[in-house]
Amino acid sequence: MAKKQFKTESKRILDLMINSIYTHPEIFLREIISNASDAIDKLCYQSLTDDKVDMQRSDFKIKLGVSEEDRIISVSDNGIGMTKEDLENNLGIIAKSGSLKFKNEMEKSGEASDLDIIGQFGVGFYSAFMVSDRVTVITKAYGSDTAYKWESSGTDGYTIEEWHRDSVGTDVIMHIKDDVEESEYTRFLNEMSIGQLVKKYSDFIRWPIVMDAVEAEEVETGALDEDGNPITKQVTKVVEQVINSMVPIWQRSKDEVTKEESDEFYQNIYYDYEPPVSTIRVNAEGQVAYKAMIFIPGRAPTNFFSDQFEPGLQLYCNGVMIMERCKDVIPDCFRFVRGVVDSPDFPLNISRETLQHGRQLKIISNNLEKKIKNELRRLMDEEPENYEKFYDAFSAQLKYALVANQGEKKELLTDLLMFYSSKEKELVPLREYKEKMPEEQKLIYYVCTDSIARAESLPQAEQIRDKGYEILYMTEDVDDFVIRRLEEYEGIKFCNITNDDLGLETDEEKSEIEKKQEENKELLDFIKDTLGDSVVDVRISRKLKSHPVYLTSEGDISIEMEKYFSVMKNEMAQSIKAKRVLELNSEHHAFKSIKEAFENDKEKAAKLSKILLAQGILIAGLPLEDAAEYAELVCELF
Ligand code: ADP
Ligand code: MG
Repeated sequence: MAKKQFKTESKRILDLMINSIYTHPEIFLREIISNASDAIDKLCYQSLTDDKVDMQRSDFKIKLGVSEEDRIISVSDNGIGMTKEDLENNLGIIAKSGSLKFKNEMEKSGEASDLDIIGQFGVGFYSAFMVSDRVTVITKAYGSDTAYKWESSGTDGYTIEEWHRDSVGTDVIMHIKDDVEESEYTRFLNEMSIGQLVKKYSDFIRWPIVMDAVEAEEVETGALDEDGNPITKQVTKVVEQVINSMVPIWQRSKDEVTKEESDEFYQNIYYDYEPPVSTIRVNAEGQVAYKAMIFIPGRAPTNFFSDQFEPGLQLYCNGVMIMERCKDVIPDCFRFVRGVVDSPDFPLNISRETLQHGRQLKIISNNLEKKIKNELRRLMDEEPENYEKFYDAFSAQLKYALVANQGEKKELLTDLLMFYSSKEKELVPLREYKEKMPEEQKLIYYVCTDSIARAESLPQAEQIRDKGYEILYMTEDVDDFVIRRLEEYEGIKFCNITNDDLGLETDEEKSEIEKKQEENKELLDFIKDTLGDSVVDVRISRKLKSHPVYLTSEGDISIEMEKYFSVMKNEMAQSIKAKRVLELNSEHHAFKSIKEAFENDKEKAAKLSKILLAQGILIAGLPLEDAAEYAELVCELF
């Protein structure tokens, strides 16, 4: 029979598997069992709407077989089975788009364990080749009369031929490799090891996983002994034993489930190599009865901030999965959570379409929103380290969610925010900032910046720090938008330290600045005229102390926003510019020089004006339009 070749990518991944890059070959069983369980889920789901599926829930099972003599481990299910096309598509090529990413991930993953990668990219079936030198799949699809046998010894391709199988379902028969090192693969070839692997990785599989066991039994022979008692003899018989506990973890009471069990469940199901930072259990009665187990991850999946990420929880109705990812059951702002919702009230046999728009989902979503919020607040107060881990991974998500939809979730999300504090040198919640404010402080000071170091060196920061006030350094792109959305926190307005008015001066100080402004009006007008459209105003600064010059903005668009938009490859975005204002420190000797030049040498004064503007632009972290001209001007000073 002609061998078909695996697609190139598949071949490479098979190579990786076979050449035992993985340190956990034992997960092969989990993967094959979970495919069997998925296949049963599919047929069971079908049976809810299709009378022709002649199966009861209790008929479904996964049967394991092991023979040390033949070096075989087999996994059989009575699930949906595969057609010839399915075999080609599912076992002949590695899961579609996942494969490229898989490769990339492999290349850069020093630390990611094998567990994540195998499951995450839908290459679970191939893990059989870590322990097998040949894999045979015999399968008959639901609704089909023909069974098929698929077989492969690894990278050299596979064969498919018609075969015989009585009923619908699939057998995966793994021919276990010979040992290279002592007991390397032989260790899997006994009932005890298989049982342990099932306990470890597949205990919560909803369908019974059974294995034949030999049981001894006393039976009466029919004869009687001399005292008239029945004579018995020992016979052995083979019985199917269920080796998994089946009860899904979320159905067990909270006290019964240890943290280890629950973490392991999360890590196995969601392919995370770290435990979650928190697990929420809900057992709700009332409008909708449901149980939920919600995990808050401490790490964002690599695709979290892309369209490829699919948020949502798994929906179950009394232990039967009815939807893999239901996103309507959690609020979008908390799209990072993982977990399960199980409700006997979910309408099992109506279309998923209807379910998606169900009132029940809305009620659950609202309820979970509160629970998640409360848990995050609790973490923030009681487990700051865990909260920071979470925040590190998902702060941007919280912020985008806060800005989105006209700030609809503002109330919910504000007190989950933290920003870097100039005083504490770490992230602090807004509440803490407010609590520590000196009595006379009227505003919450912040600055948007690309780095903490730059924020520290900002000229305006000096005056505020001198007052003993804390400044929040905001280093994420979205921060500026967040603050604009918030406007204030518990009645205290936010103030960007690059603003003109920092609300620091007394009336006296203010009138003094105005006086200076008046005194230097001619000079300031001259500078403004020289600089033309590059600035909308030139002023005496109210906040500079040791620096000569600073660039601020007037109106809605800040310098930071301009920077944010300028890097986008979009004409519209690039045309968004701040209205620049040049502020000068009248106490600085640079100011004295330009004043002198203005009186004696207008040409020099014009050049100095340009230099000051260029310096302002540079300090603000913006690009100079004409760097050559600036360099020339500076050199002329020598
Ligand atoms: P995944 O399970 O992530 O889709 P796998 O590599 O584990 O990836 O399996 C590939 C596909 O092969 C499955 O999606 C399924 O369609 C099919 N498959 C594997 N095992 C079985 C089985 N026992 N019964 C039916 N289909 C199966
Ligand atoms: Mg799988």
